[in-house]
Amino acid sequence: MREYVGVIHLHTEYSDGWGTYEQIMKTAKEVGLDFVIGTDHDTIQPKLDGLEGYHNGVLLICGYEITPEINHYLAIGTDKLIPPSDNPQDYIDDVRESGGLGVIAHPHHIGIKRFGVDAFPWNDWSVNGYDAMSIWDLVNDWGENINGYVSGLQGLINPAGYISGPNPKTLHLWDELNRERLVAGIGELDNHNTHFKVFGITVEVFKWEFALKTIRNHLLIDDITGDYERDTKHIIDVIKRGRLFVANDYFENSRGFEFFALLDGGKRAYMGERLPAGTRMNLFINSPKKAYILLFHNGNLVKEKYSTNLTYATDKSGVWRAEVHLQKGLWRRGWIYSNPITIEGNY
Ligand SMILES: [Zn+2]
Ligand SMILES: [Zn+2]
Repeated sequence: MREYVGVIHLHTEYSDGWGTYEQIMKTAKEVGLDFVIGTDHDTIQPKLDGLEGYHNGVLLICGYEITPEINHYLAIGTDKLIPPSDNPQDYIDDVRESGGLGVIAHPHHIGIKRFGVDAFPWNDWSVNGYDAMSIWDLVNDWGENINGYVSGLQGLINPAGYISGPNPKTLHLWDELNRERLVAGIGELDNHNTHFKVFGITVEVFKWEFALKTIRNHLLIDDITGDYERDTKHIIDVIKRGRLFVANDYFENSRGFEFFALLDGGKRAYMGERLPAGTRMNLFINSPKKAYILLFHNGNLVKEKYSTNLTYATDKSGVWRAEVHLQKGLWRRGWIYSNPITIEGNY
């Protein structure tokens, strides 16, 4: 099994982003990505233009973002252009029927009121049938930490300093949803590389060189063939199964992180798996660097250790997942977020 690393959710000149796929894929190669999933607003034109496929060894998958006023939804791996609707269940069902991967985007988006950036949250949780949700969004995380002109300016000069971690409300909701069924968690950029002027100087939110180094998805994948259509299907399948972790690789590269369960008889269970009630397991968390390792059960912190590894034996039903935090600058920041391993049964 290999670790296959990529970014999800970005905008190009095909919608309201700045920059071309050519430029983004060149940068993706330079910063060591394996894949990029682009999601322009309500268009499959990049796919029709034949941009999907390997670009100098980096796989580009062209999905799109279904963009009503709120309740934005990523549709990935479908040839069908599904229109926005007031009822999100309509497009969730359509993406599912078309065989695509459907992802709830930036669920707790708040915008930046002071600077006139609107909020685009997800507000209908009565829906069902979606595959995944975003648990961490670069632009929204940054925006949540910008609360005035001073932090605004500092945040433009040093954007990495204003990435703190996923919104706790999102994590709480994600844990709740996973009690019922697997809802895979992904990380997204929602980067537009917007250009604007501050005191006559052009600033970019964010340069691709920066954005592509931040919130990444690390997939554990068995079979990469070099055939882009087959590899796209594998990537979509692995994301649907939750076999991935999400990390901000800007300060430290999270490659090599592990979260798995060793079961009686020596079998391993991986992220995204749901085990029958009563399963006994030994959980292993390995961090590529000494840091704060945290283990959560149904959203409650069970164990924390400043180390490169943590183990825990349990047969308790519920949603088990790992986080790793780093001390960088004045802040302790979220670094790595695993998808859960769940033991089914009554909680
Ligand atoms: Zn959006
Ligand atoms: Zn977007």
